[in-house]
Formats: sequence, C-alpha cells, structure tokens
Amino acid sequence: MGKILIKDGRVVPVAGTAQEIKADVLIDGGKIIAIAPDINADAEVIDATDSIVMPGFVDTHRHVWQTQLRTVATDWSLFDYFVEMRLGYSTFYTAEDAYLGNYVGALEALDAGITTLVDHCHILNTPEHAEEAARGLQESGMRAIFCYGTFANAPRVPMDVPTDPNWRYATARAIRQGRLADDKGLVRFGFAPFEAEAMSPDDLAAEIRVARELGAAVISLHAAMGPYASGIPVVETLHKSGLLGPDLLFVHGAAFTDHELKLISDSGAAISATPETEMQMGMGFPVAYRAQAHNVKTGLGIDIVSNYAGDMFMPMRLGLQATRALRNEEYGTRQRAPSIITPKAFEALRLATLGGAEAIQMNKQIGSLEVGKAADIAIISTQAMHMTPSFDAVGAIVLNARPTDITTVLVNGRVVKRNGALVGVDWPVLRKRFAASAERIMDGFKTVNVPELAAFARPIMPHLE
Ligand SMILES: [Zn+2]
Repeated sequence: MGKILIKDGRVVPVAGTAQEIKADVLIDGGKIIAIAPDINADAEVIDATDSIVMPGFVDTHRHVWQTQLRTVATDWSLFDYFVEMRLGYSTFYTAEDAYLGNYVGALEALDAGITTLVDHCHILNTPEHAEEAARGLQESGMRAIFCYGTFANAPRVPMDVPTDPNWRYATARAIRQGRLADDKGLVRFGFAPFEAEAMSPDDLAAEIRVARELGAAVISLHAAMGPYASGIPVVETLHKSGLLGPDLLFVHGAAFTDHELKLISDSGAAISATPETEMQMGMGFPVAYRAQAHNVKTGLGIDIVSNYAGDMFMPMRLGLQATRALRNEEYGTRQRAPSIITPKAFEALRLATLGGAEAIQMNKQIGSLEVGKAADIAIISTQAMHMTPSFDAVGAIVLNARPTDITTVLVNGRVVKRNGALVGVDWPVLRKRFAASAERIMDGFKTVNVPELAAFARPIMPHLE
C-alpha cells in the first residue's frame, strides 16, 4: 500500500484545541504519518479542495442484519419491535440473509462515512449464520466488532440447528478460533449476551465469563430502556459480583440512575446511546449527554436500520437538539430564556467519533485524526447547495451534511469510497440479490399470526399501556 496525501482540505481532527485547521494529511502503511500545511510527498493525491476532512464515524450499536427490513419498523414501539422483529422476522432469516444483511449494511455504513461499527448480532439461528454474518462484515472492508449474540431465535423454516443445547457457545468458540482469531484484524470478536434484563443474574454472569474467556473486545448489553426496564438492577448486580469492567458496553441506558452511571464510570464501562430509537420507542430520554456529565465513556449508535437510515448525521442531530430542547425547557418553566445554548455541536461530533472510540477502548487507534492513528477518514464535500457556504466546519458536519456529501472514505488507509462511489461494489447487481432476500423474509413473516404472538409476549412487559 503506497502513500496517500489528502491535499488542501479543512481538517477537523477532533483532537487538540483547534476545531478546524487548514492542513494536508499524509498516510503511509494504513496510518496517519503527518498533518501539516503544504506537505509535499511522493504519494497518491486526493484533492480535498472545498471539503472537510474528518475522522470516520464510530457507530457503537447496530443490528446490521436488519438492513433488508428497512421501513418495517416505522411506527413501532419497543413492544412491537420485540414481537415482530425478535420473535417474527428473525425466525425466517437464512444464513444467506444474515450474510447479505451484514454485507450490505456495512457497505451502507461505509458509504455514510462510518469506518467502525459495533455489530450486535443476534440473528444466529445456526452456526452457519455466525460464519456468514461475520463474513459479510469482513468482505465489506469495514472496521468492526462482531458481537456474537446468544439470543435463542426459534426458526420457523427448516434450518440446520444443532441438537447440542450448548451449540451457541461451541460456535462462539469455533468462530473465535477460526474466522475471528486475529485481534489485529479489521473485524474483531465481541459478545452479545442473550438479553441482560431477561436472564437470571447467574446466567448473565456465566455469559460474561464466557465472553471474557474468549477475549471479546466488547460485551454489548441492552439495558435500562426507560419504563421498559423491568426493575432488574443489572449494573448493581454486576457491580456486586465484581463483573463490571471496561469491556462492557451498555446500550440505551435512559433509565440509569445517577448512582448506576457512577458505577459504570468508576468501572471504566461505557454506554452507547441510540437517540432515534429511544425517542421513538418510549425508551426514555437519550442518555448521552447525562452519561458524559458523569464521566462515562459514551458513544452514539444507530441501532435498527429496519427503521431508519444507517448514517450518523441523524443521531448526532436528534440527540443534540433534543438535549438542547430539554435544557431550554427548564428555563421556560421558570419563565426565563437561556442566553447560552448547550450542548455545543462539537460535543455531538465528538460523541460520534472519538467518544465512540473511547466507548469500545479503541481511542488509541481511531476516533480522531492524529499522527500515529489509523487512517480511518471521511471527506465531506461542501460544494452542494445545502452546504454552501460552510463557514463553520463543525456546524456543516453536524447540522447540514448528508451522506451524499461524503466523497471519499478510507479505512486503515485503504480507499473504500472514491469520487462518491463505493469501490468494487456493483450495486445494481447486488441490489437484485438483496431485494430477493428481503422478499423471501417478508413472505415468511406474512404467515405469522402477529396478534397471537403479541398476546404471548404481553405479560413480559408489565408497564405497557
Ligand atoms: Zn439494540
């Protein structure tokens, strides 16, 4: 891999004191080796005139497999999601579907300037699903943590499900020793326990121990989903059993008390807030800025692409503006008006990049543009009508940019998007295969008696109204 020189861009490093600097970025061997004005080097040049050069986004929570179900969740509550997605659609996924969901989902993320994502993969209907889902991430060129999920889907169509009741752990071990053996690879092994609030403390502890024994980079746990939190004090329980640690990534977390946030912070564990899901599904107010105020390592996530687009612009903007509204409203209730607006847009950008990298313990490698870090970079053009002018680069990214403004994306120094198009992807051909997969799953789902399934699931969620 030769040197790459990104010339004449407005660099937003998300590091140091300056929010924006006029500089070139020189890349060699997958790493950033210089950031300075007017670099001259024998290198492939990427012209970043009229563009912003920023670290690739870090999506800390996504169920990538759901990519071919986009728009099915448009008006869902969390209960609908549980019934229709987790107990319905998932049961028709073949290994091929899991591959396609993950492959296309990761490509969609790359296209939107996301260079690292945490895949909470709970579509593992058979061992082959695990192989195929992980392969989908690997083939995309994305940097990712594949969190192997143990949630027990019950397939409604014939599949090769092993009879050994422990096959999920055996498969985790096999994939860890096989496809995901390399901790220096772009896709690393992680773990996603069954469901932290729907399992006994002993079972959760056992799964966390399995994950650690296997060297999971991240252990992804849904928790504290607003009023849905069933009163199971997961954080307190893990704290008492000495299991809290920096590899734990709690997802959602809107119902966490200040005490729980302190326990999380003290242990070095982290939170992924997914504002769009929390705001839609009645899961409480997005916790990101409150978590940060408690010094919790915090990132943003997209969560379910079965509902909305897989780019980080919307979670950044929604989380930021909702938090501003909440803070401003506090003044309003006292018949006062704020003279200073918080949080600042830069804080949203930081959550979506370096904050996410911190949350998954990768901030030494990624999350900002600094010499020595991996060259995970997104270049955003400011030439479109909706980006002209862009006096403030951070404001342009957080409040104005769209995925279509991203012209170039690099992961580990490799160009995966160039001149506005993904490299080596024939979308019209891929789209046919992907659409066929989506049709197949939808045809299966149409045979499900949803009211019957809802009646079965209703007692699990006592706070429903
Ligand atoms: Zn989730």
